[in-house]
Amino acid sequence: MEGMDMFDAMIESIREDTVRMLFTIKVRQQAAPQRQEVLKPMEHHNMTVRNKKKVGRNDPCPCGSGKKYKDCCGKN
Ligand SMILES: [Zn+2]
Repeated sequence: MEGMDMFDAMIESIREDTVRMLFTIKVRQQAAPQRQEVLKPMEHHNMTVRNKKKVGRNDPCPCGSGKKYKDCCGKN
């Protein structure tokens, strides 16, 4: 009987550690995509700046939005 209680306590302890570990991994995975989203506007800006010279104001915007350049990234 006593041995059985110790076994239960050990299993319970392992289960708590596992839940804690999985929770930590989950939090890290959720934090990662947010960092990528922060970088996006800068990538968009760099791409626009690189293509600026050859794009006319009435040409489709190089960022791929489908709008005219003057209505998208060419807007002041
Ligand atoms: Zn654009």
